[in-house]
Amino acid sequence: MKVIVLLADGARADWFASALNSGAVPSLARLRDEGALHAVATVFPSVTGMAYAPFLMGRFPGGVGLPGLRWFDRARTRCRWPDYCRSYTGYQYAYATGDIDPRAPTIYELVPRSVGILSPITRGLSSERKSLSLTPRSALRALRTHYFGSAADMLKVDREVATATVERAGEVPYLFAAFGSIDKLSHAEGHQSPRVLDALRIVDTTVAAVRDKLERRAEWNDTRVWITSDHGHSPVSRHEDLERVVRGLGFRVIAHPWTYGIAPEVAVMVSGNAMAHVYVDLAKRERPFIRGMSDRARALADQLLDLPSVDLVITPLSETSSEVHSLVGGHAIVSRDGGRYSYARQTGDPLSLGRDLLDLSRDDAQDACASTLYPDAIVQIAELVGASRSGDIILSAAPEWDFRSRYEPIPHVSTHGSLRREHMEVPLLMSHRPARTPRRTTDLFPSSLTALGCSIPDGLDGLTFE
Ligand SMILES: [Zn+2]
Repeated sequence: MKVIVLLADGARADWFASALNSGAVPSLARLRDEGALHAVATVFPSVTGMAYAPFLMGRFPGGVGLPGLRWFDRARTRCRWPDYCRSYTGYQYAYATGDIDPRAPTIYELVPRSVGILSPITRGLSSERKSLSLTPRSALRALRTHYFGSAADMLKVDREVATATVERAGEVPYLFAAFGSIDKLSHAEGHQSPRVLDALRIVDTTVAAVRDKLERRAEWNDTRVWITSDHGHSPVSRHEDLERVVRGLGFRVIAHPWTYGIAPEVAVMVSGNAMAHVYVDLAKRERPFIRGMSDRARALADQLLDLPSVDLVITPLSETSSEVHSLVGGHAIVSRDGGRYSYARQTGDPLSLGRDLLDLSRDDAQDACASTLYPDAIVQIAELVGASRSGDIILSAAPEWDFRSRYEPIPHVSTHGSLRREHMEVPLLMSHRPARTPRRTTDLFPSSLTALGCSIPDGLDGLTFE
C-alpha cells in the first residue's frame, strides 16, 4: 500500500463540497463517488503551519511546540535574546523543525523514503529526498510567495508542486504535497472568487494525472489518495490593530514586525489573522495563569473582551483548565483530566452548549459541539491551553474581524485562525471508503501508518480510520 496526501491549503469544507457538485473538478468528484467525502475538524489555531502538525505528526500543534504562527518564548529556552519572539512568516520559518518536540516523531522519520513537497516540518526528510521534491531554495521562494507574493506567483508554485507530485507518485511509500493557491487567492479575492476554483482545478488535474499513472501500473487500488485542508476561510471587512489597541490601554507592547522594546509588558502574537496569543507580565519566566497575573494584566483581559473584534477570550487557569468568555454569552470553564474533557457553565454559556458536560471522551466532547458555531471547541481549547508556549490571554476573532492591519503586507478580504466553524471545518476526500468515520485531521497520520503497515507510536491525538 502507498499513501498520497494532497493538502489544498485553505479549502473550507462546505465550499469544497459545492465545488465538487458544480462539475468544475471532475476527478475530485469521481473520488468522492467511488470513495468518500467527510468534513473533519482541523486544529486551533486554524492556521497554515500549525495546522500541518496533525498530518505530519498526528498531534495537536500546541502540544508539540507550535502554539501559533507567532509566539513569545516566555521560558527563553528556544527563541533568542533580545525579543524572544517567533514568527514563521519570515526567515524564522526555518526554525519550525527545531521548535517541535524531538520526542514526537514525524511521518518522515517513521516511513523511510517518504517525500514532503512544501512541507513546513522537515525533520526526517533527508536533503536528497527534499531535493527530489522541491529544493530548499524553491521552498523558500514558495514561502515568500505565500505571505508576500502575488496570487499569480502562487499559482506558478502550485503547478511546480503538481509536476513534482505526479513525478513522485507511485515511486515512494508516502507522499505529502501542499498546494497554497486556494489560501492565497481566498485572502486576496474572497473564498467564493472564481479564481479560487481555478486553484482547486490544479489539484484536480494533479489527481487525474496521478490516477492515470497509477492505473497504468495497476497500482491505483493499492494507493490511498487523500485530499484535505488545514483550515477554512471567512470574509473579513474590519481589521483591528490589536497591538495598537493594547498600547492605547497604556501597556508597552511588542508585536511583529516591531518586537524590540525597552521593558515590554505585553506581547501580542497574531495568527491567521483571526486568533491571537497575548502574553502579559513578560518578565516572568513561568506562565502566571490568571491568578498569578498582575491586576493590570487581569484588567486587560476584561478590556479585550469589550472589543467588537473579539468573539471569545480564553484565560488559562492552569495547564488543564481555562475560563472561556464571550461578551454576550458569559463565561464557562473548560477543563481536561488526561483524555477526559469537561465544560462547566459559570456566568453563562459562551459555547452555546445548553448544559454542563462532565468527564467526556474526546469523541463525545466533539459530538457535543458538533452543531454549534464552534465545532470541537472543548477539545481544541483544552489542548491549546495545555501548551506551555501558549499565551495568557487567547483570543478568537468575531465574524468579519481580524487582528492585524497596518503591518499586513497584502490587503486581504478573507481570514482564518479562529474557533468558528468556517475556519475549523475542512474536507477530507478519500479515494477509498474508510473503515470508520474520520473525525479530525489528526486521524490522517495514524491512518497513513496503518495503510503502510507501520506501527503507530504512543501519544497521538488521532485514531486510524483505515
Ligand atoms: Zn492563510
